[in-house]
Amino acid sequence: QWIFLDGSFVRKEDAKISVYDHGFLYGDGVFEGIRVYSGNVYKLSEHLERLYDSAKSIMLEIPYNQQELTDIIVQALQKNELNDAYIRLVVSRGVGNLGLDPASCPAPQVIVICEELAIYPEELYEKGLEIATVATRRNRPDVLDPKVKSLNYLNNILVKLEANMAGVSEALMLNDEGYVAEGSADNIFIIKNETLYTPPGYVGALEGITRQAIIELAEELNYEIKEVPFTRHDVYTADEVFLTGTAAEVIAVVKVDGRVIGDGTPGEETGKLLEAFRDKVARDGVQ
Ligand code: PLP
Repeated sequence: QWIFLDGSFVRKEDAKISVYDHGFLYGDGVFEGIRVYSGNVYKLSEHLERLYDSAKSIMLEIPYNQQELTDIIVQALQKNELNDAYIRLVVSRGVGNLGLDPASCPAPQVIVICEELAIYPEELYEKGLEIATVATRRNRPDVLDPKVKSLNYLNNILVKLEANMAGVSEALMLNDEGYVAEGSADNIFIIKNETLYTPPGYVGALEGITRQAIIELAEELNYEIKEVPFTRHDVYTADEVFLTGTAAEVIAVVKVDGRVIGDGTPGEETGKLLEAFRDKVARDGVQ
């Protein structure tokens, strides 16, 4: 396996970063997770735009332009002979001194890791997920905006720990006002009376690329779709609930905080959306 690091490709065993890298010391950096379906990098320009936006927000200069990053990703896939893959693109502040001032880091580090895809077991899609809401709140947009996909994922990790403690596979974060924001690394949708609802970005969610793809798909399929804030009550009483994300695609939720959703099996509309999504990604070509 070949990893892009320090401007060239190195073997996985040799892919090591300095302990002085501020990505390691402080979580100072940004990243993307991207899928490759049958050799097509799915929504690459959207992912790159989000990466550059995240970087701009934290005043991190990415040392390559979009075309150069695209070329590096294509090379990484070719070198690793991958057709269906998950790509992790990381840009850290790079090596500096022990102080947290980014001014001591002259050269941001760009890393590209591609792996054979480890999809969630198909069984999870057939059975649906049991999830919980947890105490960890989504960080407020006036602190570090949730739109920034930064290397600082401690909040999300706390959510995952709480999910583990509760014995469920995933958990939902609420915002300070108690509105449902998102999962630890997935966006949420609910369906009630044939209408789809998903929290707007300002509630405190990453503007997921899969979320946007599902919104567009749902519009094509003539669903009514509303981006409005909603509460746990709305989730408990929804007809269907599902999560979306690059890794998870579309995955049904069948129980939330012990409340059974619908009849406790993955919803019919969720199934249709997953099928339509998978059909679309197989046809959407980028490269
Ligand atoms: N929310 C968070 C916090 C995430 O890290 C992710 C994963 O990237 C998502 C939502 C889903 O976004 P996307 O569909 O772009 O993968």
